[in-house]
Amino acid sequence: MASFFDTTIKFLEKAAPSLDANRELLPILYAPKRTVKVAIPVKMSNGKMRIFEGWRVQYNDALGPFKGGIRFHQETTEDEVKALGLLMALKNAAIGLPYGGAKGGIRVDPKTLDAIELERLSRGYVDILYPLIGPSRDVPAPDVGTNPQIMAWMTDEFSLLSGFAESAAFTGKPQIVGGSAARNAATGYGGFVVLREVLKMTKNAGKIKTVAVQGVGNVGSHIINFLDEAGFKVVAISDSKGGMYDKKGLKVREICSKISGGMLGQCEIGAPNITNESLLALDVDLLVLAAMEGQINESNVKKVRAKMILEMANGGITPLADTYLEKNKVMVMPDILASSGGVVGSYFEWSANWQRSAFSKEDVFTKIDDFMSRTLSEDYEFAKKRNINLRSAAYSLAIMRILEATKVNGSTHA
Ligand code: NAD
Repeated sequence: MASFFDTTIKFLEKAAPSLDANRELLPILYAPKRTVKVAIPVKMSNGKMRIFEGWRVQYNDALGPFKGGIRFHQETTEDEVKALGLLMALKNAAIGLPYGGAKGGIRVDPKTLDAIELERLSRGYVDILYPLIGPSRDVPAPDVGTNPQIMAWMTDEFSLLSGFAESAAFTGKPQIVGGSAARNAATGYGGFVVLREVLKMTKNAGKIKTVAVQGVGNVGSHIINFLDEAGFKVVAISDSKGGMYDKKGLKVREICSKISGGMLGQCEIGAPNITNESLLALDVDLLVLAAMEGQINESNVKKVRAKMILEMANGGITPLADTYLEKNKVMVMPDILASSGGVVGSYFEWSANWQRSAFSKEDVFTKIDDFMSRTLSEDYEFAKKRNINLRSAAYSLAIMRILEATKVNGSTHA
């Protein structure tokens, strides 16, 4: 099977024929500008030292400082972080943010560490990368396996090293240390806005009712909340151990615990009654992918029966599976659009930190709504005009912006 990076490049190549200008500069997007591999020593609670392997891939910064999450996962590889860095560069360009793209990762199962070990690991990552990151250089955020607490430790470490309070160095922080009240729910909210707008544009509003959601972490648990509030019937949810299915509809509010601010937290899946493989094959109107990459691929795409797919997980669908879905008229709302609410939320957290002020949750949700609706209608028009799908349209517009900035910056040394 092709690697995650190779599959992301395939999407790039598929979009290339729709570029209007600067195609000769496209090779700039075939490799990251900088890849840093780190080995982080951590003194464990049993007194022994362990070395953790990690990366920061700074993919492209033509449009602004590098920006992208940090993933803590036991199967993270350099290839994965590289693919996610490219996706971030494209996502930020697609949505019109003044950012380049980056991604970080540490190969660790964070659930196997205690709080002190996790804090040491988070601070250790920042110690090594300190000269290369910061508010105007590279601004990390949470991703799979990381959370606001980890961002708080990292920001604190960065501030200790610089001697200044550098809240704009990271986003996705707890509110008390400069985080945004909206950041945690922002990715889920953005996905919900994309769905709402696509249903309107395709005249499907009211016709899509039943939903299955794969992955109930930060992104999944919040999108479930918005879907439930809007009257969709969530019939299945899952995590890495398996899922729950009830064709009459799950009692989402009981399964998912509340966290402060009334938003849903992680959902507790009791005794699973469905596997992830069967969840993906359920006869539902909408399938939401909110777990990991490559979940719909060559081996299972023919079993998918959903009419629409909201790809919140970065790289949730492989290129061959995507082509099959397109041929079979399954409407895909691609990751590059569907999951960009988080970075829009991050952008407003970062802007507020620079100004030493704060935006209200309502304010940020309104801004996410504006960004996502505008981007979506541009992409939809472009896709219709060129007779391509939404993913290729978003990729083309994003690539054109990056290449135009590259040309204007004059930084190709050509
Ligand atoms: P998370 O770690 O909070 O949650 C991941 C969830 O997926 C967990 O419930 C986990 O149990 C589940 N999971 C893992 N492997 C699975 C499998 N094989 N089958 C079913 N469930 C599985 O992560 P998150 O932050 O919610 O991120 C989810 C996805 O969304 C990732 O692809 C991430 O890159 C993407 N994303 C996240 C953000 C963000 O703001 N957190 C922003 C944009 C994109």
